[in-house]
Amino acid sequence: SRILVTGGSGFLGGVVVDTLLARGHSVVTTVRSEEKAEAMRATRPDIAQDRLSFMIVKDIAKLDAFDAAVVSDPPFDVVVHTASPFHYAITDLQRDMLDPAVNGTVGILQSIVKHAPTVRRVVITSSFAAMYNDAKPAGSKYSEEDWNPVTPETALDAENSQAGYRSSKALAEKAAWKFVEKHKPSFTLSMINPSLIFGPVSASLRSLDEINTSNARIRDFILGKSKDKCPPTGSQFWVDVRDVALAHALAAEKPEAGGKRFFLTADNLCNADVVAVIAEEFPDLAAGLPSGDALAAGQFPPGGPKYGFDTSRSVRELGLQYRTLRESISDTVMSIQAAQNRL
Ligand code: NDP
Repeated sequence: SRILVTGGSGFLGGVVVDTLLARGHSVVTTVRSEEKAEAMRATRPDIAQDRLSFMIVKDIAKLDAFDAAVVSDPPFDVVVHTASPFHYAITDLQRDMLDPAVNGTVGILQSIVKHAPTVRRVVITSSFAAMYNDAKPAGSKYSEEDWNPVTPETALDAENSQAGYRSSKALAEKAAWKFVEKHKPSFTLSMINPSLIFGPVSASLRSLDEINTSNARIRDFILGKSKDKCPPTGSQFWVDVRDVALAHALAAEKPEAGGKRFFLTADNLCNADVVAVIAEEFPDLAAGLPSGDALAAGQFPPGGPKYGFDTSRSVRELGLQYRTLRESISDTVMSIQAAQNRL
């Protein structure tokens, strides 16, 4: 198929692009600058220009941002929307987080309806953040049935930028389902809801300071920054970026994935387990890792993981098989070490 991917310069976006190319699709991806397009091209020298090309979209918070990007010759069959802010360096929650997340999502759907009538499937990267519900009883299982209860009215009460990010993802997903219900477009929607994503960083990463938010803790372990105190885990679950990217591709390809959300998670997460894998697989790094009492904050709370998870839909309907923590963390560490050697 001919596929538009937004946010190809991102951690997940880059792997989505490569996965689609490897499966024989031709891809146009949006990036914010010509420089980012050049960096992506430079790390993919073997890919012909008619299989991977670029459109510049600077500000996804503008509702008409994608009007030009959705038009292509040959026309698109599928749009995969991954671009959305995932960082905590915000000064204005509405402007820096909610607007690009929600307007970016509604905007691309509007652009498709207006200018890209051949699109039959839109795959959107949502998140476990759109499922997370504080009020859910400990010991219960998360599945596609779960919803973050945030509304546009309560979103601005977020206590910190982490909560603000979760709200941005929940409001964007809710707005997307509302849009298709109201406008009944000719495409169907598939939603991918991954938990915290680890996995190899891009070969075009320019600095370890620019590593994406979810891999930052692994960089910090490698650099010895958490030696005196392991940070709290902060997320219930994790999943590998290659499995998440494959789920996007499968959702793009499988007719029966339309109209559904897919919760992706490999397992419960605890930072102490991540540290253990790094120490075992990379003995040279062990001296910089937290141990003993310094690990306490990264352990599961007493009683173990707070929630279970049911990812059977992703296994049954997409055929996903999840990578293990050992494989994911090992490959992530090696990719960061390769970046250290290169930079
Ligand atoms: P990255 O920060 O690496 O990627 C975010 C992408 O969105 C980048 O391409 C970025 O462009 C683009 N982007 C962000 N804000 C804007 C904006 N205002 N205008 C235009 N483009 C913008 O993070 P991830 O790869 O981790 O995130 C990708 C998607 O996956 C997001 O939707 C995120 O919410 C979702 N997700 C991520 C999880 C994780 O743990 N990593 C877990 C669950 C969901 P640029 O490269 O120019 O900054």
